Amino acid sequence: MKKKILILAAVMLISLLAACAKPTAQPQPVNNEKNEKNNEEAIDVLVVGGGGAGMVAGITAAENGSKVIIVEKMPMLGGNTIISATGITASDTDLHKQAGIPFTVEDHIKKTMETGKNLPDEKLVRILAESSNDAYQWLVSLGLKYKLDEKEPWWIIPVEGHYGRQLFDAYNKKVEELGDKIEIRLDTKATELIVEGDKVVGAKVVGKDGKEIIIKANAVVMATGGFGNAPELIGEYNPKYAGAHNIMSTAGPTGEGFKMAVAVGAGTRDMEHHQMRPLATPGYWIRETVINEEGLGGILVNASAVRFTNETLKPLELVPEILKQQDRIAYVVFDSEVAATKNGTSAIKNGKMIEAATIEELAEKLGLDAAKLRETVDKYNEGTDEFGRSTMGKVTVGPFYGVKVAPSSHYTMAGITINENAQVTNEAGEPIPGLYAAGEVVGGLYGAGRIAGNNTLDDIVFGKIAGKNASAK
Ligand code: ADP
Repeated sequence: MKKKILILAAVMLISLLAACAKPTAQPQPVNNEKNEKNNEEAIDVLVVGGGGAGMVAGITAAENGSKVIIVEKMPMLGGNTIISATGITASDTDLHKQAGIPFTVEDHIKKTMETGKNLPDEKLVRILAESSNDAYQWLVSLGLKYKLDEKEPWWIIPVEGHYGRQLFDAYNKKVEELGDKIEIRLDTKATELIVEGDKVVGAKVVGKDGKEIIIKANAVVMATGGFGNAPELIGEYNPKYAGAHNIMSTAGPTGEGFKMAVAVGAGTRDMEHHQMRPLATPGYWIRETVINEEGLGGILVNASAVRFTNETLKPLELVPEILKQQDRIAYVVFDSEVAATKNGTSAIKNGKMIEAATIEELAEKLGLDAAKLRETVDKYNEGTDEFGRSTMGKVTVGPFYGVKVAPSSHYTMAGITINENAQVTNEAGEPIPGLYAAGEVVGGLYGAGRIAGNNTLDDIVFGKIAGKNASAK
């Protein structure tokens, strides 16, 4: 299975590369001090990670007069931000005023705190919400066009097109405009932070040629993302998710930056919280409602074509149930009535579900035992349930749909601690001089739950704060 998951990840990576086919800004070499003999360079600000937070931090530091190097370990920029297909959360924008749909800063704070079960650091949440209109306006100033999702008025989504890709087109343009103030080094991985006295003064990095160099900097910004592609770290902190898959993540977010920061004394928080999706397919997660509230009739079976749980458990409770099954996977199966719902239609299209005229044909296409799946569906349709499911529906009206799903990381709530200045803090809450952080590597904004779109907002808000403060001399 692991092999298959790796293949899936490779397929995702290839499609991502294709998605990024539009060339990124040609990295311009920054005129930095180079000491070839010692394999050492010096720069004002070193940003580690070229996802959403790193790009914003790097651009902001350069706009504030610093010479900047962004190191990105992958052959392209983007991280998990570039695959974000949705939008940004912001409050009190002109879009809200025009639509006459209020979503105030106070609403924003309240909703973020409540969704996080009051675990988030309210000081950080307040900054996030209060800066959200500026963040949105900044995107508009970069030429991006948005509209309000009137059903969920915290959502601001592109008028058309793909949110993440548009962001990177805009960021690349900005990098180009900044010329030699900012250099992007792809295929370059930071491996260790360098500390002198109590101050972080740079990092060791390894380029494509495998050569290690030291980049000294007045300040380092960690923007290395979460644990999306680090299932072992997810399992270490959340044993109930041990064995999680990684099919929703790009390859880069492997938790290295988190470990590097912890190694120099960074505090951590909310480590026992990780947003998982039980019904993930490569690059997409099927809304759980297709097998519970909305669809009623959907079921989950394991590789033996047998039901194994109450499908209406909460998503985070469903995850360990699936992880206990053979290969730690399951199959979503539903009929044409569920298919007709909004989330059913989306699951079929985006989750690449397989269609078949009969249950037996579906089983064959999914590689399951046809007689067993027939038996399982018939038993379910009788309406008695050994798992305590109370919303029993029926899987009776063809065509039928099914797909393999693998519980995967959606978002890393945990992370290193920062203060209002985006300075990384130690366990005692004191800033570590020279070290800043922004984005998914940071903990403290979400706690036990997250409203969608706040994460792409926090990349911008705390990326800007980190970039500005890192460039202060
Ligand atoms: P965020 O939204 O916080 O910016 P992303 O997932 O979008 O998170 O981006 C994080 C980026 O950091 C990814 O592109 C990933 O490849 C990069 N990265 C992770 N670890 C390192 C490292 N050790 N050195 C350089 N880049 C890294």
